[in-house]
Amino acid sequence: MDEGAIKRQLRRITISAAVSGILLLVCGSIFWAYLMNSLNQTVLEQMQTETAETKRRIENQMSMDFQVLETLAVIIGYHNVMESAHFAEAISEANQHNAFDTMCYFPLEGNGVLATLGHEVETDMPIERLNANARSVIQRSFQGERAISRLFDSMLSQEKVFVYSVPVYVDGEIAGALAASDHIDIFTEILAADTVLGGGGYLHLLGSEGRFLIRSNQSVVKDGGDTIFDGTYIRESEKEKIRQAMARQEALKTSFQYEGKEYLCYLEPVGVNGWYIFCVNTRQWANASVYRMLNVVGILAAGLLALVVVFLSYGYRLMRRNNKELLYLAYHDPVTGANNFPAFTKSLEGSDLRPGTYYVAAINIYQFKFVNELFGKEQGDNLLRFVKQVLEGGLKKEEFFCREAGDLFYLCLRESDKETVRRRLETMMDRVSTASLQDGHNYRVLLYCGAVAGGSGSIMTHVLFALARAKEMQRNAVWFYDEELHKKEELENYMETHMHQALQDGEFKLFLQPKMDLHTGKVGGAEALVRWITSDGTFLFPGDFIPLFEENGFCTRLDMYMVECVCQQIRQWMDDGIQPIPISVNQSKLLFYETDYITRLWALVEKYQIPAQLITLEILEGLAVNNMEEMNRKIELLQQKGFRVSMDDFGSGYSSLNTLCNLRINELKLDRGFLMQTTQEENEKLRMIMEHIVQLSQSLHISTVVEGVETQENEALIQSLGCDYGQGYFYSKPIDAAAFSEKYMKKQ
Ligand code: C2E
Ligand code: MG
Ligand code: MG
Repeated sequence: MDEGAIKRQLRRITISAAVSGILLLVCGSIFWAYLMNSLNQTVLEQMQTETAETKRRIENQMSMDFQVLETLAVIIGYHNVMESAHFAEAISEANQHNAFDTMCYFPLEGNGVLATLGHEVETDMPIERLNANARSVIQRSFQGERAISRLFDSMLSQEKVFVYSVPVYVDGEIAGALAASDHIDIFTEILAADTVLGGGGYLHLLGSEGRFLIRSNQSVVKDGGDTIFDGTYIRESEKEKIRQAMARQEALKTSFQYEGKEYLCYLEPVGVNGWYIFCVNTRQWANASVYRMLNVVGILAAGLLALVVVFLSYGYRLMRRNNKELLYLAYHDPVTGANNFPAFTKSLEGSDLRPGTYYVAAINIYQFKFVNELFGKEQGDNLLRFVKQVLEGGLKKEEFFCREAGDLFYLCLRESDKETVRRRLETMMDRVSTASLQDGHNYRVLLYCGAVAGGSGSIMTHVLFALARAKEMQRNAVWFYDEELHKKEELENYMETHMHQALQDGEFKLFLQPKMDLHTGKVGGAEALVRWITSDGTFLFPGDFIPLFEENGFCTRLDMYMVECVCQQIRQWMDDGIQPIPISVNQSKLLFYETDYITRLWALVEKYQIPAQLITLEILEGLAVNNMEEMNRKIELLQQKGFRVSMDDFGSGYSSLNTLCNLRINELKLDRGFLMQTTQEENEKLRMIMEHIVQLSQSLHISTVVEGVETQENEALIQSLGCDYGQGYFYSKPIDAAAFSEKYMKKQ
């Protein structure tokens, strides 16, 4: 994985972690808000229910009080006892037996009677002495209304009281009003029930101006003032809402903050005198256990999230560090600290290098393994580090290099001029060599270098090829890649790796070229010439592969194979009833060094049951030069078996008439060089030499063949010289055996 991919992955991980975190947070918050909301809703509903219940109980209390008063009013009116002397006592008596504080009766005209608990009954009391609030409700009852007064301070008890008043009828006519006062405290019991919201809330009774009529002693607000509008615990905006709701006598839900806690409130009008029931609840109180649990869960979740964030960021940092280290290891050579090969190729591929603007070079230390052996691995590593330093110092901006493995370094130089590249690279190599002598050892480190111009495909293969060539050349010099040479080597490599299989698959084909009998003008024989037709149809000529096979020894196998092909062909002709002609086969000199050569040849003619006389073995002159005796012995043995021996390409190398005289061959093939037209003068010289050779051969009973007959003139010339056979394109190019049979071999 490269740096970019790692960074991209890191980014992906970070983003997905962050997104998951945010998602978790958002979901958690939504869930939390939903839970809180539904809890609040439940609490509010509970508050409404309980407030309504309280309101109902207040109403009950009032209606009970009215009932008591009305019953009394009916009795008084029915008996019309208001004028009686005992009326005052009767009122006082009645007052003793109910829950009222004060009771009074006022006729429509004149003074009334007033009985207060613990006080003397007042008779003949003018209505003007009554509190205005009391007076007002009594006057409303004079109109037939059942009325209840606002709160006022009782003159007698100095407490907050209110007055109920009902009309008294005599014979269906309003005669006066019966009124009774009571402490507001009669509602305290109702409001103070500590069962409000399961003990988690409390109720106040408010007057029309928001004044606390009954204040719960459970109130959380200790210094709130006389009205709910005093104090700062209720926000101004909420106060405004309360005022508006009160003006319209509507219920309202609100909240306030006190000492850092939020309290939910509910205001419900009682329906009498603008009174309100003010219900307060503390969240923490109302559903204490649920809130506690939720809080715990919330804290846990937040903690968990924080932990995840911490772990993630830790993991991220760890990964980054590890990746950095990994990246360093992935792209650096641990011995020298230079970039390594993957880093080099990455730079090569990733950079903006245009063909023709750069060179890639490979530098190697000549026989580095000896440095290791002689001075130890430590010194070897030091040398590598030194080479790295020198190369690094020799680079320009935006150029790069690496150490691949062992002592192989690659460089990329941004140069377009070959000679500049050569100079720069040679300077670097010389610097290493010179320094190596100064470290006390008498060992001069030498290098070699291959280089290739950028832009060609498979640049790294080419630079290695150039390096391999450089190794065979001068030290501390640069060898530049050569396309032709490389192609040749590639072909050689192909041939060497495929030759065995090709032989098995019959890719080596027998081609035949006729040898013309110059005396009769008929085909007097043929030369077997091999062609390699590869599996993809490529035609390879002997010149491409014979030198290679001579080098690697495969030629002996191929030659024996060709002899067998020739035997097969002759057998075929004989079987087909065709008079066979002798065929010459080229023989590698290597065969002559094999002890069982003749045996194997003999085995082949035996196998195909053909006369050995039909096989001519073509050898090269050079073979005989060093050991004439031994050669003659071999030739004699072959001739004893019936084979004929021909000397090929005579006159092409260091031919000598001496060899011709001493070697007991049957045939001499004059190289086609003799017929190659040059100057008139040289032509004449060659003609004379040929004439001598032919004459000498005739006297030695050696038949003569001239190769390379390409024209009528060539033929006329060799005929005039008395040559026996002519071979060349003038007659035919080498053609495959079947075509040859078709063209030249006629059934008799
Ligand atoms: P060579 O034995 O001297 O074969 C004659 C070569 O000259 C053949 O080339 C042939 O095609 C070519 N030739 C014939 N007539 C003319 C002509 O009129 N003009 C010109 N310019 N060339 C002519 P080829 O087939 O490419 O063979 C080249 C050489 O390869 C042969 O030279 C021979 O030394 C060697 N060779 C061919 N086949 C074998 C083989 O099976 N075994 C061995 N060991 N060597 C072989
Ligand atoms: Mg030949
Ligand atoms: Mg030849």
